[in-house]
Amino acid sequence: MPLKAYSYAESEYVDSGVIDKDVFAKEKQIISEFVLNNPSSNKETLCLFCGCDTNIFDMLNEVYYNRCNNCFSIFAKVEKNIIKSYKTYPPLVAYRQSKEYQESAEVRRDGIWLDFLFWLEYRLARYNRNIALFDIIDISNRYNEFSKRIKTASFCKSYNVEKSADVVLFLEQFRCIADPVETLLELKCMVKDNGVLVMNVRVGSGFDVLVLKGCSETVFPYETILLPSIEGLQIILQKTGFDILEISTPGSHDIEHVLQNKEYLSKDNHFIHYLIENTDKTILAEFQRFLQKSGMSSHARVIARKKSE
Ligand SMILES: [Zn+2]
Repeated sequence: MPLKAYSYAESEYVDSGVIDKDVFAKEKQIISEFVLNNPSSNKETLCLFCGCDTNIFDMLNEVYYNRCNNCFSIFAKVEKNIIKSYKTYPPLVAYRQSKEYQESAEVRRDGIWLDFLFWLEYRLARYNRNIALFDIIDISNRYNEFSKRIKTASFCKSYNVEKSADVVLFLEQFRCIADPVETLLELKCMVKDNGVLVMNVRVGSGFDVLVLKGCSETVFPYETILLPSIEGLQIILQKTGFDILEISTPGSHDIEHVLQNKEYLSKDNHFIHYLIENTDKTILAEFQRFLQKSGMSSHARVIARKKSE
């Protein structure tokens, strides 16, 4: 069994300020325009992770999201050509490369990047005791400063090498792929034997995703179409030839997301209303820590070793 709750962050639950509201609104506007002009309306489909039957979970911007009855993963099955165009949509690519976007990320994500690099260095040392320096492939990192920091990290031997590497980073990318099996098999080809794949994944078994059920500001097509559960992730990684070394959910924003979107909560959600209206900041922070420790936050970190063939 992989470790599930080895690490968790100690950050407070409010005012984390990762998102600049204006920047996010502009980005979302561009994305909505694309979705409007490139609709996808697949309705029924088998689970992309375990192959079992699904039910409709919700519809966001005219896109159907399904939830698996077996592994509880949530996903929208969007056509490959649409996702390909989405990823290269010129207005979106240009905005994400703009000074405004990059500088905002640099200021607001500094702590997250530091924390991630510390986590990664520690894990690489733990799982590869005979190597000190690693070849790294960092796929489509959206943030220039973050790429630079990985490239100059003390454990990085060479960055974005051609062919295969000891470490393949697939950060914040898993949420927007059309076919997870195909993508993982492609990633496997980039990982050397006994090398590792590292992913940050938004998970559909997480607290805020399930409580807000489609009303979260941060889950929308086509930016987030895959929300595997922890079980769904385990199934698909094993299926594609990886041994999971560790899955943890260090996410620290579930409660914050619920508080920010509380007007959308169903009135029947009595426990959640009681939790957020009748308890104090300390209890909410403790509740967030519980979610992290028990693997029930909606942001997961995964480190998996490629099985030797
Ligand atoms: Zn499933």
